[in-house]
Amino acid sequence: MPAWNGERVPKFSEQFIQQVAQATDIIDLVSQYVALKKRGAEYAGLCPFHNDKNPSMYVSPAKQIFKCFSCGAGGGVFKFVELHERLSFPEAVRHLAERAHIPLPRDVEAPVPDGTPTKQDLHRLTAFAADYFHRTLLSPAGRETLEYAHSRGLTDESIQRFCIGYAPEFWDALLQAAGREGFGQQALLAAGLVAPRDQDRGGGCYDRFRNRLIFPIYDIGGNVIAFGGRALAANERAKYLNSPEGPLYDKGANLFGLNWARQAISDKEQAVVVEGYMDCVIPQQAGVGNVVANLGTALTDRQVKLLGRYAKEVVLVYDADAAGEAATDRALEMFLAQQLHVRVARIPDGKDPCDYTLAHGGEAMQALIDQAPDALEYAWRRRQGELEAAGDNLAKRRAIVEDFLRLVVSSSAFGAIDEVRRGQLAQHIAHVLNLPAGEVQQHMRRMGRAIPRANPLPGDAQTARTSPRHLPPAPGTNPTYLAQRHILESLLNAPDLFDSVVEQVGPVDFDDPALRWVAQEVWNRGSRGHLAVEELVACEVLAELGALVADMIDAGHRRGNHEQTLRGAVEFMTYRRDRQNMQDLKATGMSDDVLRQIGKRCQKADPRRKPMAGGS
Ligand SMILES: [Zn+2]
Repeated sequence: MPAWNGERVPKFSEQFIQQVAQATDIIDLVSQYVALKKRGAEYAGLCPFHNDKNPSMYVSPAKQIFKCFSCGAGGGVFKFVELHERLSFPEAVRHLAERAHIPLPRDVEAPVPDGTPTKQDLHRLTAFAADYFHRTLLSPAGRETLEYAHSRGLTDESIQRFCIGYAPEFWDALLQAAGREGFGQQALLAAGLVAPRDQDRGGGCYDRFRNRLIFPIYDIGGNVIAFGGRALAANERAKYLNSPEGPLYDKGANLFGLNWARQAISDKEQAVVVEGYMDCVIPQQAGVGNVVANLGTALTDRQVKLLGRYAKEVVLVYDADAAGEAATDRALEMFLAQQLHVRVARIPDGKDPCDYTLAHGGEAMQALIDQAPDALEYAWRRRQGELEAAGDNLAKRRAIVEDFLRLVVSSSAFGAIDEVRRGQLAQHIAHVLNLPAGEVQQHMRRMGRAIPRANPLPGDAQTARTSPRHLPPAPGTNPTYLAQRHILESLLNAPDLFDSVVEQVGPVDFDDPALRWVAQEVWNRGSRGHLAVEELVACEVLAELGALVADMIDAGHRRGNHEQTLRGAVEFMTYRRDRQNMQDLKATGMSDDVLRQIGKRCQKADPRRKPMAGGS
């Protein structure tokens, strides 16, 4: 399973974030984009995140939140900017800091020791290098390479658009050209464009990319951050060579082609992930605009999260070899954890997306993408082959089935598949294994109970769920879920009540990952004696969950009766927890004496009691 923690690198201090939030008035901010009209204590306007005909977005100056009653978008000031400008959280903080004329903290800008090139210097250098390679390709020196590029199917238009270039076969062509523009060796080294020569060979540097077709790699803002080079000589050891990681290039956080594909991905709500430069460029050139490449490395959590900002669904198009299969399995788990729907396309005849598109055209490639099976179905088909291969080896067969069931169970735990689909899969598996369906489902339930404990806290999995096109999770009628929501809804509206519950429940009692995440933040702040809702919606973690938080604030506000609601929900939760503890103890063979003791505690609360709806 993917790591839940460790991905989030806070760029700004909480204090700075709150300073920016306080300096930004949500009414003032939203009015910049939307005409707002006063309605009682709130303001209403046309929601910019869906095709709104009647004003369905409400903005509350008191709580500093916005909420759309049609599409579910909602949150605080940072969330609004994130959605509207398509920025990450740190980018949104920076944006609003600049808007409020608050100077950025010094340590956010990379410290620059004397003589070390700044990030701006490096951006200027990489832009120069991309242009230099591109001009060289179009110059007489690049004629052969240009012919080669054409023979591989690249059109002049693509060469222009992707700024494809040629690094000539010299040790210092770029070094000299950049030197004439005033770029020093240190900058060239930092940008990964040159490599240091051994001291016994006279020191100095030499060009990293030689005799290669060059693909500049851009970040989402359109800055060149790295280069990929395809060998032109047949005997070259490395067919592809990429820039090393450095101050500009963080391999695991970028995807080739996203800067061009971003709009198409947003429009289709779908991203296609391929492995190589040409696999991305050639389909894009043929009209399949939503393709990005992960450059042959294993897909990282951060890349998946990045895609989640633009897409609801991802189609993986990897090589059909063993390495490709393993990569697909890993990617599958990551996407499931981020609640992105995944499908897996396979190209017939072992071709890659580039060859296939060239041979059959963009429409055929699009058809393959459209027909790609759902990832779970794909995973099952593959295991069916393994099952057949396992023959009568029961242990092997069991291992294969367990492996698949685990994937299904974790998918439903992450909300990636629903109960109905889960039941269908159980039927399907039961049929194949010639087992009663009930037995398979029972087994899956047993596995399911182990899974929530394996994932103590959710990471950024909720990003996809809270993007404007994703409605907040339905309140549902499950009493446990309701009780947990009621606790948070009441606390968000009546923070003073925190002290009355802190002893009785805690974040660990919340099963729903998103709710637990909110609870964690409420408890963190509440136990420091500082639970203020305006601050809560501005903090980084909850900005991600903006729609859910805004929804809970609103639902709680409309219900009112916070104290009573809270008391009912907490009682329900403690009863449920004690009962669960007793069951766990029974299962572990605890002594009857201990069980009786706990049993007594359970009797204090009425077992039929549901969380109070309040307001009656
Ligand atoms: Zn809306």
